[in-house]
Amino acid sequence: MNEDVAFIQEQVDRHHVWFSESLPMIASENIISPLAREMLLVDFQDRYAEGLPGERYYQGNEFVDQVEVRVTELAKRLFRCRHADVRPISGTNANLAVLFALAEPSDTITSVALSDGAHISTAKFGAVGVRGLKTITYPFNTRDMNLDVDGTIKLLREVRPKIALFGQSVFLFPTPLKELRDTLQEIGSYVWYDGAHVLGLIAGGQFQDPLREGAEIITGSTHKTLPGPQHGILLAEPRDEKMEKKLLRAVFPGVVSNHHLHAMASLGITLAEHLEFGRAYAEQIMRNAKALGQALHERGLRVLCEHLGFTASHALAVDVTEHGGGAEVALNLERANIITNKNLLPTDTSPVRPSGIRLGSQELTRIGMRESDMQDVADLIARVVTKGEDPKKVARDVAAMRREFRSVHFCFEAGAAAHLRYRMTRPA
Ligand SMILES: *Cc1c(COP(=O)(O)O)cnc(C)c1O
Repeated sequence: MNEDVAFIQEQVDRHHVWFSESLPMIASENIISPLAREMLLVDFQDRYAEGLPGERYYQGNEFVDQVEVRVTELAKRLFRCRHADVRPISGTNANLAVLFALAEPSDTITSVALSDGAHISTAKFGAVGVRGLKTITYPFNTRDMNLDVDGTIKLLREVRPKIALFGQSVFLFPTPLKELRDTLQEIGSYVWYDGAHVLGLIAGGQFQDPLREGAEIITGSTHKTLPGPQHGILLAEPRDEKMEKKLLRAVFPGVVSNHHLHAMASLGITLAEHLEFGRAYAEQIMRNAKALGQALHERGLRVLCEHLGFTASHALAVDVTEHGGGAEVALNLERANIITNKNLLPTDTSPVRPSGIRLGSQELTRIGMRESDMQDVADLIARVVTKGEDPKKVARDVAAMRREFRSVHFCFEAGAAAHLRYRMTRPA
């Protein structure tokens, strides 16, 4: 065996063992179903399909086209919208497409500030900066972890942005789109909702329904609360045919050439599964997040927004300043096989010393955990964070807990030898 190959395989094996003994709690991650994972191995991975079904630049796309048409239909059905594009290869990539389609350099975009939980793609040094836009951020109510509605209305009237962008990566509560709707219509801004984190909740009929509340475009990653392959999606209710064409052309040839056909097929399986199980999954994610927030609070951790029930999504923000700060706490939790991330909180003054950690319930829910299990998870976290127990000791109990949660829930059953079917159609 080649030494480099063996080395890489061994690291991946070790990663698998580690994660099978861990509590995966990063709010932007998830695991795909066995049937969706199978699609990542198929021959689509080896092919090109530039453009749209029926209008390709290469031959050989007969069945790819069939799949793409169906995946697009599934997306429209799940999100109840007229326009869906399943070609963006990530959330950031979909965001770039929207910026390319609807703005010109030096136009103004309004968005949530990074320190209030927005994603880097909305920053000067991210996708918005690539398009050369001026950014202005909304006033934010840090106690409620949400937009200050009156201040935002005032700002929108003053600035009249070309694009009004909403959505966050620390996304605890629905954006008050309905309250902003009249103002946004009056000033004529494009209303864009970055739903990367909450796409699975929205598709499950929870959290909020942006396209019915005033948003015209939703972008997102398909691998956070929507438990699909690493890919992106763009959904819209275009104002007219011209806007729809602009959105299509911004994706290809704008920001994508080939669109990772295996991931697109895998996304189709995820969408079909979410149509079947998404509601139950989203409801359980939210119940678990609230239960975990309450359980951590009872164990002395400073979970934000107690007065609002901690969260209305999959995510929790915890201020761990008094336990050493976000970086140290996240590292100690990792040693205990509890995988989280340090996170800036709105009250932070230093961008390099975040005082918080962010926790997500979506993957724990995916492997079958329910409210009562959140008590055990909170115990394990508290032993590390508030009681200062040796993380290695806690790691053993984390691994023991994980033995009861081995399978992926809220998906179709895969046949035992399913993943072999496609391998056999190709020479070894
Ligand atoms: C994760 C995230 C993205 C980017 O997603 P990728 O798929 O990683 O490119 C964009 N916007 C928000 C709000 C996010 O949280």
